[in-house]
Amino acid sequence: MTSIYNLTREDLENYFLSINSKKFHADQLFDWLYVKRVKSFDDVTNIKKEVLEEIKKNYILNNIKIVNVEKDKDVNKYLFELSDGEHIEAVLMFHDYGTSICISSQVGCNMGCKFCESGRRKKVRNLEVSEMVLQILLIEEELGSRISHVVVMGIGEPFDNYENVTDFIKIINHPKSLAIGSRHITLSTCGIAPKIREFAHFPYQVNLALSLHAPNDELRNKIMPINKAYPLKEVMDALKYYYDETNRRITFEYIMLENINDSAKEAQELCSLLKGMNCYINLIPYNETNNIDFKKSNNIDVFKNELIKKGINVTVRREFGSKISAACGQLRSKEV
Ligand code: SF4
Repeated sequence: MTSIYNLTREDLENYFLSINSKKFHADQLFDWLYVKRVKSFDDVTNIKKEVLEEIKKNYILNNIKIVNVEKDKDVNKYLFELSDGEHIEAVLMFHDYGTSICISSQVGCNMGCKFCESGRRKKVRNLEVSEMVLQILLIEEELGSRISHVVVMGIGEPFDNYENVTDFIKIINHPKSLAIGSRHITLSTCGIAPKIREFAHFPYQVNLALSLHAPNDELRNKIMPINKAYPLKEVMDALKYYYDETNRRITFEYIMLENINDSAKEAQELCSLLKGMNCYINLIPYNETNNIDFKKSNNIDVFKNELIKKGINVTVRREFGSKISAACGQLRSKEV
């Protein structure tokens, strides 16, 4: 049976109408699910018993559970078991401005980025909306406090699960559910150009990040196979279209790999590629894993200064979580 957390507010209204009940129950049920955090439909007190019985015939509440938590300084990693026995992970980071959670959007990933541990296992399936929403709800319950920021950057390519990811955003942003502000939500793609264009018309002001990692096609083809399907020109055109439609600044992520993409030549190419764009670059120190042969660059400061000289906004991502394999690209690729 499917989880009620798969339904957006609008879906819930339509559901109540479809069972000849009242649309306003959607508001009431949202309050029980996301504010009161009810554990059983039987605890709902302001919807008639017959209606609740009907809901119980069609829906369950929770369909995932936390099976392990690892903690390091400023970071917790959560392992979830799904109802079909699959596992995914999410990472919670404590910042001075609040807490942010990096959630997974698929079991496995088909994008095959060479530096990514998370994508070593092929995609098994998309996550349901509820399986993404519940990563947040269960971690908030474990923490006993609210999460302020959400990034969809864990296992999976969110634009390869577009419908569910956009429904997930609609739910967590809704003022009667978690009310996580759009500007506190970031979605990261490896560059599925047609979906970037489609996302330009998604009417929520969420942030978009592109996992760039290489400034030319030759190198990007080597480390990110998706580039063969959507070469840089196509991706950059899609991003320009996205910017023209939304006026929202784009973040570029660039993982720093020793002797691969970290020389002055690549820094210059990057500056040329991004010239004139309203964007900023996030340089990510690579987290070495036992299974993949890339090394962390020790040229990050020099690279960063090259970009600054050319007027590019650039930050270096704070490193955390590598001890418990919770850092970027290190989430579990294997079955447990
Ligand atoms: S970096 Fe993201 S898109 Fe690329 S393989 Fe890893 S999980 Fe998939």
